Amino acid sequence: MKALQRITVLGATGSIGQSTLDVIAQHPERYEVFALSGHARLDELFALCQRHRPKCVVVATAADATSFSQRLREAGLATEVLHGEQGLSDVASASEVDAVMAAIVGAAGLKPTLAAVRAGKKVLLANKEALVMSGGLFMQAVRDSKAVLLPIDSEHNAIFQCLPGNYAQGLSQVGVRRILLTASGGPFRETPLANLETVTPEQACAHPNWSMGRKISVDSATMANKGLELIEACWLFDARPSQVEVVIHPQSVIHSLVDYVDGSVLAQLGNPDMRTPIANALSWPERIASGVAPLDLFAIARLDFHAPDEHRFPCLRLARQAAEAGGSAPAMLNAANEVAVAAFLDRRIRYTEIARIIDAVLSQEPGGSLENLDAVFEADTVARRTAVQWLTRQGR
Ligand code: NAD
Ligand code: MG
Repeated sequence: MKALQRITVLGATGSIGQSTLDVIAQHPERYEVFALSGHARLDELFALCQRHRPKCVVVATAADATSFSQRLREAGLATEVLHGEQGLSDVASASEVDAVMAAIVGAAGLKPTLAAVRAGKKVLLANKEALVMSGGLFMQAVRDSKAVLLPIDSEHNAIFQCLPGNYAQGLSQVGVRRILLTASGGPFRETPLANLETVTPEQACAHPNWSMGRKISVDSATMANKGLELIEACWLFDARPSQVEVVIHPQSVIHSLVDYVDGSVLAQLGNPDMRTPIANALSWPERIASGVAPLDLFAIARLDFHAPDEHRFPCLRLARQAAEAGGSAPAMLNAANEVAVAAFLDRRIRYTEIARIIDAVLSQEPGGSLENLDAVFEADTVARRTAVQWLTRQGR
């Protein structure tokens, strides 16, 4: 029998966190939850602790930790409660842990994800923002610590599955011509451009194919998500931005493709359910059941493909520019996008102003190289400050 693998799930209360726990619960003979983290929604975190009985749980603040400990004790649970950034990094790097699901949303996930990488863990990367911000440093840390980095983003997991095992030798060495990154086009793929000014957060979060957290749902609507994924693909697979082409595929059945020099194009297909890439990465290089229904090609009947329209999706163009500029530009793009999306979800700005804020930040801030993690956080801080100044100037 295989040794039980102990898993830390960072961002357990989120969409990816819950799907991960669903897959883990289907295989109690293979996986055990070591630690869970949650930032808000403490009732849900408590229910997860009752169900999965982790050794540790991480909450946001010392005050949350005190009240959460009390609640666990009253329920007869011996779970140790940690808090804050240090607590997250501790459960990501603990010696008992075999694998870490990095599923915190946004820049907040960078330090704990890097802690898991530096401790040489098997790291299941959902938190794309961490890699976008710190790309070269992150990948160097993976090489130095011999961590095993497995992509959870459905597109990158698909590409990973379509590449040969020795792809790290270089894409051209293994005969890859291009990576084709698929995108659904989100809920506003066909909305008249003039109507985009007035779309609401509820409309933006109503994704046609995927059920996800609110931030990534807005990113999918603007296609900033695809822009972040383009940068993510460049780092994961050592590709140039020009080697990654974005293809709108509204059915979200093909999760991405790899185009080889001999004319072969390999694709990974499946129902749009994150439990497939999660199960793939958890059990890699083996395969386990995920609970996802088999793909019914007859029910799907057709697959469509379109080129993205840059007028409709300016965030995608801005992300490509940031990818080509390199250095601190992707970290700044990410930070500006996080501020803009939060303001949109708060109804302080219009949907169309998300791209305007990113554009303003990238054109005002000169950017530079990223020598170390301090430089990454400095770029993040500068971009957030500039984005907030934009909001203030507009009286938001
Ligand atoms: P979500 O909003 O549903 O969950 C986010 C999780 O992060 C929650 O557990 C929350 O408590 C935690 N969190 C939020 N702010 C935090 C902070 N400041 N400190 C610590 N923890 C914090 O998000 P999600 O949809 O599960 O996405 C998680 C990550 O996975 C994102 O980076 C997203 O881009 C990526 N991803 C998600 C999907 C998907 O289908 N949901 C697909 C691909 C990639
Ligand atoms: Mg994705």
